This record gives sequence, structure tokens and C-alpha cells, in this order.
Amino acid sequence: MSEAAPGSGAGVVTAPEAARWIRAFAAAVAERKDELTKLDQAIGDADHGINMDRGMRAVVEKLDGGEPDDVGGLMRTVAMTLISKVGGASGPLYGTFFLQFGSAAASPGLSPEEWSACFDAAVAGVRSRGKAEPGDKTMLDALIPAGDALRAALGEGATFPAALARAADAAEAGMEATIPLVARKGRASYLGERSAGHQDPGATSSAILVRCAAQTWGS
Ligand code: ADP
Ligand code: MG
Repeated sequence: MSEAAPGSGAGVVTAPEAARWIRAFAAAVAERKDELTKLDQAIGDADHGINMDRGMRAVVEKLDGGEPDDVGGLMRTVAMTLISKVGGASGPLYGTFFLQFGSAAASPGLSPEEWSACFDAAVAGVRSRGKAEPGDKTMLDALIPAGDALRAALGEGATFPAALARAADAAEAGMEATIPLVARKGRASYLGERSAGHQDPGATSSAILVRCAAQTWGS
């Protein structure tokens, strides 16, 4: 991590830094594709890992062809690629996440507080698009606690890496807490009570996304 990187005080998340996060997510999704698909096999149609991997591969290919030099443009590129390449619920929902993240990114590089505000806007976008609430056993059950933890940590004066680590821990706790829940949104909701006892695939990929941020900018 360079001198001007986030967490060092003066630094911001620039487009190349944001691209590192996105590429780390693509690599993690590729590595954990089978695990994500297996989770979706239990309460869905066994394609979440396949969907996310297909989408993130296309994103990396797109970025390899040229990275937009502002965070907003970069995130919109990620969003449009996911929306065009991923069918199923997760394509439009992750597409919305990155679209709203990008729209909230007003400056070419983001301070930790700005990054946190973009994350909140992204989560709000997913919530409004999917009409899910906390506890519905969806990706929001990882994303909402992550955003809350990040905001709280920065508010308490934590460094960006420390705040991201707390966000990733909160996302993983939220992900694990989906296990006993009955799904009320998406394909898993068709199972009713039988969806209980399984970890939500989308909450799992979302926890991976947040952990990747913590690892990308970790101290
Ligand atoms: P599909 O369900 O169309 O096969 P995926 O398997 O790729 O799509 O993604 C399933 C995940 O999408 C679920 O595990 C859940 O986290 C998330 N999801 C589904 N519906 C919603 C919704 N309305 N709001 C938020 N997340 C949702
Ligand atoms: Mg599925």
C-alpha cells in the first residue's frame, strides 16, 4: 500500500485502487464459485457461483481493455457489465449496487468517509430495487451490517483499514445469521420454512465483497 493510500491519513480511493478491489472480488468469486453454487443448490437453483463468476470474469475482461480513470465511471462500467452478463436476481441487484456506488462517487478519488457514503448509497439501491428488508435472508443481511459497522467505526476515528475489517466481520456475522432464517425474497422464498438451516448464497458473496475491500486496503 502506497504512502497516499487510504488509511494513511491523506489518501483516497482512486479509480486504480477501486479496480484493485473489483479484481480481488473477481478472483475470490472464481476461487469460491463451487461453494457459492453449492449454497444455492440447497435453497435455489444452483447457479449463484456460476452467475457471479460469469459476471465478474466479464468485468475483468472489460477493465483489461481499459479502466475508466474516475471511481464513478469505473463502478458504472462494473454495473453495466454485470447487468448485461448476469441473468437471475443477482445480476440486476449487484448491478444496482455498483451503479449506485458509482453515482454517489462525486470526486475522482474517495476519502474513507466518502467511500462509506457510497457503500451506503449502494446498499440503499439494492434495498429499493429488491424490496427486501433485513432478516429476509438475502444479500442485504450481510451488506446492511457492513455499512453500519463501517460508518460507526469511521465515526469513532478508526483508520480505513480498521473500519473495513470491522465491516467485513459484521458482513460475515450477518451472513452466518442467515442460516436459521426463513427466506422471504427471491427463489429461496419458494421453499418457505424449508429454506431455514441454510446459509444464503447472496449474503455469502456480499460478505466476500466486503472482505475483499478489507484485504485490498488492509494495514
Ligand atoms: P437467482 O435466485 O435468480 O437464481 P442467484 O442465484 O444468482 O439468482 O442469486 C440468489 C441470491 O440473490 C440470493 O441468495 C439472495 O441473497 C439474493 N436475492 C434474491 N432476491 C433478492 C431481493 N429481492 N433482494 C435482495 N437480494 C435478493
Ligand atoms: Mg440461483
